[in-house]
Amino acid sequence: MNTYVQVTLFDAVDRQRAEHLIDLALGEIHRIESLASDYSDTTDIGRVNLAAGKDSVTVSREITDLVRLSMDYSRRSEGAFDITIGPLVKAWNFLAERPTIPDSAVIASLLNNVGVQHINVAGNRIHLAKRGMALDLGGIAKGYAVDRAAIILREQGATRFIVDIGGNLGVFWDGTRHLDSTVAEIMVRHPRHDGAYIGSFRMGSGGVATSGDYQRCFMIDGVRYHHILVPTTGFPARGVVSVTVVANDATTADAYSTLVFVLGKERGFEMLQHTPGIDGLIIYEEHNKLSFLLTPGLEKRFVPLND
Ligand code: AMP
Ligand code: MG
Repeated sequence: MNTYVQVTLFDAVDRQRAEHLIDLALGEIHRIESLASDYSDTTDIGRVNLAAGKDSVTVSREITDLVRLSMDYSRRSEGAFDITIGPLVKAWNFLAERPTIPDSAVIASLLNNVGVQHINVAGNRIHLAKRGMALDLGGIAKGYAVDRAAIILREQGATRFIVDIGGNLGVFWDGTRHLDSTVAEIMVRHPRHDGAYIGSFRMGSGGVATSGDYQRCFMIDGVRYHHILVPTTGFPARGVVSVTVVANDATTADAYSTLVFVLGKERGFEMLQHTPGIDGLIIYEEHNKLSFLLTPGLEKRFVPLND
């Protein structure tokens, strides 16, 4: 997943038991990676991508469910969230040592292979209709892996823990709900000053995710190019610096943070306000100054930090 994983247990257990639980959680996260990653030809997603424009591929039930769910997020966002963004993410190559802006003719031709209408899911098989298509679950799979690790920990009897995969958090504190409780203090990173925070809020059991333009990005002539792309243009989404979403689970928080980022400040904030069960915070830059938009549920609890 190209990021860090942190599992924190608050149950009073001995060291050996804690290490065992953490090993199980990490094992589950690796299992999800071995299905969902698009960096390898042997994962479910890798095999689907390799067969694009050719064969339909049998995959695990989890992957068809996650692909179907992702297609549903495309519909809800009128195409802003789109897991067929793969060829463009590869062309931008944000993980390269020195990424560059792809040629606009290259972007234009890759856009022909983007669109969830070209994904066919039937039973446990997935077929990508066009050669050159590629699925990329980067906007949702980390949240899903957090939720799966949380299920494993709960099955083992853990009652209080936090799982964090690269800023996608699952908080579990037995008997609490995400915005009805105050057990965990979530610090929101300052998007322009590493190591600083812009504020914090408290929550109970639930998921939180942040999508930011400061991750996987590069600057050219003062312009920032980052990894969250607009599926209709192939270029990084503009107008927003970061989006934090709080939801009942980490998968929902992950998908919405990416989706709202692509929709932009106005449409994204509408979506945050009108979707039941989620709350969020959008940070945007105006006249070289950062400002926030907070949904009412989060506004009540958000404590800004002055830098
Ligand atoms: P996140 O950090 O959760 O916001 O996810 C960003 C990642 O999702 C990127 O690194 C890409 O792998 C993928 N991605 C980029 N643009 C989109 C998009 N418009 N819809 C869905 N996934 C995307
Ligand atoms: Mg996401």
